[in-house]
Amino acid sequence: MSNTIENVIIIGAGIGGLSAAISLRKIGLQVTLCEGSAHDAPAGTGITQPQNTFKVLKDLGVYEECLEQGVQLDSMHILNKEGRVLLEVNQKFLNEDLPGRNSIWRSSLNDILLTKALSLGVTMQWNKKLKTYEENEHGVTVYFEDDTILEADLLVGFDGIRSKVRNMMLQREVQSSYLGMGSWRVPIEFPAGTLTTTSYMLLNEDNKVGIFPLTATDGYMFILKPVDEDYRDPKEQRYDTVRNMLEPFQWKKDFLNNCFQPDSPILFNMIRQVVLKEKWYSQRVVIGGDAAHASAPNLAQGAAMAIEDAIVLAEEIDQHHSLSEALSAYYDRRYPRAREVQRLSEELLINEMSGKSSQQEIIQQCDALLERAY
Ligand SMILES: Cc1cc2nc3c(=O)[nH]c(=O)nc-3n(C[C@H](O)[C@H](O)[C@H](O)COP(=O)(O)OP(=O)(O)OC[C@H]3O[C@@H](n4cnc5c(N)ncnc54)[C@H](O)[C@@H]3O)c2cc1C
Repeated sequence: MSNTIENVIIIGAGIGGLSAAISLRKIGLQVTLCEGSAHDAPAGTGITQPQNTFKVLKDLGVYEECLEQGVQLDSMHILNKEGRVLLEVNQKFLNEDLPGRNSIWRSSLNDILLTKALSLGVTMQWNKKLKTYEENEHGVTVYFEDDTILEADLLVGFDGIRSKVRNMMLQREVQSSYLGMGSWRVPIEFPAGTLTTTSYMLLNEDNKVGIFPLTATDGYMFILKPVDEDYRDPKEQRYDTVRNMLEPFQWKKDFLNNCFQPDSPILFNMIRQVVLKEKWYSQRVVIGGDAAHASAPNLAQGAAMAIEDAIVLAEEIDQHHSLSEALSAYYDRRYPRAREVQRLSEELLINEMSGKSSQQEIIQQCDALLERAY
């Protein structure tokens, strides 16, 4: 199959799909990015970007904006429930001369990536939900739920953990596996003047609470706690659930009591991962990001791995004459690294759940891996 591809359709305008749109447009392809949700759909709370993410943000040309719109955190204090500092983790693990971990609202990150994609000439289509597709050696025909049809040389699926592109490509319903942990994410307010360059992780016997500033006056809190697979947390109970989980913590009690309100939009997720035995491509279809390797969030690498996928996919398409060779090279480069980060993320989660003390070793293993080029 020769590599005469000129146009691609990307499904999913999350962090991975937007990054793929930028990278594929930069190598001269016509890109149509199709997102199932509306433009103004809520984009969740915050995201933290460890230092290795800086390299990929630079590659996309959005590094400065991301740092301007986020806050940079040089250290993380790990505290027990009484507030005693157990460990200070340096967030400049790759380069002491760069700022530490960037912490940013997901909506800001999405807006920055979207603005970049549009400035390069990407065609964006909202409310455009993939229904099905057909592929042959010449191209792919994509059918949408609004009864429209688009054609392209390549279909790229960055459509998340429940990816339809992946399931159709592999011709099976891929089941994500539950890792035993529930996650609550809460937007919070910081009283003016309390912002520092530190994030906090509070540890109790059966849960951990992360506190990350996102701007000078707000941020987000997450709570990770083991729950059974059939656990449900209806929206109307979440405020009380979170309050109860915070009860044992004595650290900055006033702040913990007042940083969110009964009507704060609290997100709840069960932590799941997707490990595929199959390759991430077929003749004219390829997947990346959470669709290919959704992972536990404990190492905060999901966004970096999705962006790396996007960049590597574009590099391999640019470097090969044959599309099948490009897709195969993309998979060969990405699978070992993404799988190892996923394995370490799961190991860290299991460690944290069982109260083992080898977390530092796992983080160091991951840091060593991330120092290598992707
Ligand atoms: C609790 C939690 C905390 C996390 N914290 C961090 C963190 O701090 N740092 C970090 O780097 N990562 C974090 N992650 C992981 C990170 O959010 C993901 O890895 C990353 O968002 C994956 O991006 P993606 O583009 O592959 O998928 P997604 O962000 O899921 O985007 C998929 C997009 O596809 C769209 N879509 C789905 N189906 C269709 C369809 N049929 N047609 C059209 N569009 C469709 C969806 O609407 C969505 O916009 C966290 C994850 C969780 C669960």
